[in-house]
Amino acid sequence: MNIKVAKFGGTSMANKEAILKVKDIIQSDPERRFIVVSAPGKRFKGDEKITDLLLASYEEKVNSGDCHIYFAKVRDRFTEIVREFGLTIDINKYLDEVEDNINKSTSCDYAASRGEYLSALVMSEILGFEFVDSAEIIKFNKKGNFDASYTNDLVSKRLSIANGAVIPGFYGTMPDGSIKTFTRGGSDFTGSIIARGVQADVYENWTDVDGFMTADPRIVDNPHIIDFLSYEELRELSYMGASVLHPASIFPLQSTNIPINVRNTFNPSAVGTYILHDTSDKKTSLITGIAGRTGFTTFFVRKALMNNEVGFCRKILSIFEYYDISIEHMPTGIDTMSLIVPNDHLTDGLEFSIIEKIRGEVNPDVIFVYKNIALIAIVGHGMSNQTGTAARVFTALANANINIKMIDQGSSEINIIVGVNGDDLNHAIAAIYHEFF
Ligand code: ASP
Repeated sequence: MNIKVAKFGGTSMANKEAILKVKDIIQSDPERRFIVVSAPGKRFKGDEKITDLLLASYEEKVNSGDCHIYFAKVRDRFTEIVREFGLTIDINKYLDEVEDNINKSTSCDYAASRGEYLSALVMSEILGFEFVDSAEIIKFNKKGNFDASYTNDLVSKRLSIANGAVIPGFYGTMPDGSIKTFTRGGSDFTGSIIARGVQADVYENWTDVDGFMTADPRIVDNPHIIDFLSYEELRELSYMGASVLHPASIFPLQSTNIPINVRNTFNPSAVGTYILHDTSDKKTSLITGIAGRTGFTTFFVRKALMNNEVGFCRKILSIFEYYDISIEHMPTGIDTMSLIVPNDHLTDGLEFSIIEKIRGEVNPDVIFVYKNIALIAIVGHGMSNQTGTAARVFTALANANINIKMIDQGSSEINIIVGVNGDDLNHAIAAIYHEFF
């Protein structure tokens, strides 16, 4: 029998109605044996996620010594689910213990992780599956980095003796046994870890959309669903803000052939998006997807005969290294160089000190900073070895009257990145989308 790992996100776990759908999905296929769950998310627009309430509980405890106001909301959500399903679990006993620990412990990660913990306990009774705590099998090293190989051994050993298991997403433990969480949305990553550990045939990631879309639906009406996406394309799109899946999710699966299938709990008949190592034998379009985000600053440097000056780039790069700033892109011309960095690395007017240092080091003819840049990635294996794609992008932008401030094409030819004024982001994405789809 095949093995499927199924991860359900916050909206899928939000209330009885959603959880009943999750239950149906799992029970309709005996291959879905390893279930990873998020904490209950929002039930409606404006509602609060359990993880946010737990973080607020922690803050409340830090500020006032006790978390009873926010924790009462967490308690209500879980007791309601348990009551509505008529479960036998003594949820108040678990809630008391968590509240007590938040009041005693100083760890924010502990508080944040408890939504997944309680959610998995509840779900294991609903399904009649074993509860396997991530604290037992997902490990970080002393430096707080995820310990992939140790974890993989523990996961495969522990789950090889489980027939059906529910595992909480989002956290693991440090060598001293304390809880540590991944970054927000990290239950997706847990799902990948489990899929690798049990050598699943597929990792199903159940969410509340029909799959990855070719563009952000808030910008473009009814964008197409992407049928097949490669790991590389996913990396490019999620870097630019396509947020269906946690960007780290591909790493545990990269050296395996396990596909990720993004699906919709609320529309289970849709086949969703398959994310594969290699999509070369699949029928894909010229462009797989378009994504973009604001929040970048460009340093533009020009100096005549820069191309002949040995060490020019190194001197500039070492200034950014000195200030501990990572450079996201660096398109260069014969006499020009642009360095694109995230705005949030430039607190307290740091750009002025950087300009001064660059002037001192390389004596450029021109240097200026442009602070409100948005980057857009046009991504797709389909465009490698195809002529005319870039021309179509630039024409679409020109026709929409959008000024391009920067162009970069990765050497793998799976993406073209353009920089535009931050205020033009949505308009530019829509123009490119309509050119290709
Ligand atoms: N509950 C956590 C969050 O809201 C992790 C997750 O859902 O993946 O970020």
